[in-house]
Amino acid sequence: MIKENLSVVEQNIQNACLRASRLREEVTLIAVSKTKPVSMIEEVMAEGIVDFGENKVQELTTKYEILPKDLRWHLIGHLQTNKVKYIVDKAVLIHSVDSYKLAEQIDKEAAKKGIICDILIEVNVAGEDTKFGVSAEEVYPLILEIAQLKNLRIKGLMTIAPFVDNPEKNREHFRNLRQLKVDIKLKNIDNVSMDELSMGMTGDYEVAIEEGATMVRVGTGIFGEREYMI
Ligand SMILES: *Cc1c(COP(=O)(O)O)cnc(C)c1O
Repeated sequence: MIKENLSVVEQNIQNACLRASRLREEVTLIAVSKTKPVSMIEEVMAEGIVDFGENKVQELTTKYEILPKDLRWHLIGHLQTNKVKYIVDKAVLIHSVDSYKLAEQIDKEAAKKGIICDILIEVNVAGEDTKFGVSAEEVYPLILEIAQLKNLRIKGLMTIAPFVDNPEKNREHFRNLRQLKVDIKLKNIDNVSMDELSMGMTGDYEVAIEEGATMVRVGTGIFGEREYMI
């Protein structure tokens, strides 16, 4: 099942790249393995996937310990400052930075471990009350502030677009996020590279790729539906 799902996702990614005249290598597929067991992750690894996304610190660190160390773990969920110390040296990229306070804590813990931590700024593209992330207007001032911190590097922007029945409804949000990325990149800020755009999930990753995503985060499309424990 996972093998078949992955080949469908891969084909969709290739088709979206073709439509947008982009190279397949420009898009990283992150398999979102939250709530899924290690055995299923191993099935995905067997197909050559090395990038995995988790939204909880505890779950990421547990899986990190069990699985081979050459996997690339992405923290894609909301991060609390008191959990930063567990994650800075385990995640290759923290996608969900949305405050100076959080960035400052990441900088502090990265310094302690003698590493530079790569981050994305999470943007709430549609201004939804239920979502984390900063508004589009807040992104530039926040980046100017965070860029002063020496133990992290801002690699780009991330968004969780609204849950919609038709992915076309998110096209404008993806396009706006890409434009924001381009505008900020043109300012050539130290410590800020702005090459990455983490956007697109199972429902809308093809549209996101057409609009410039460099990382898509696909969970259900690879692993099947999630069952949450209550
Ligand atoms: C769960 C999750 C995903 C994957 O969602 P699917 O719809 O299952 O592909 C992507 N990004 C974030 C931040 C998530 O929490």
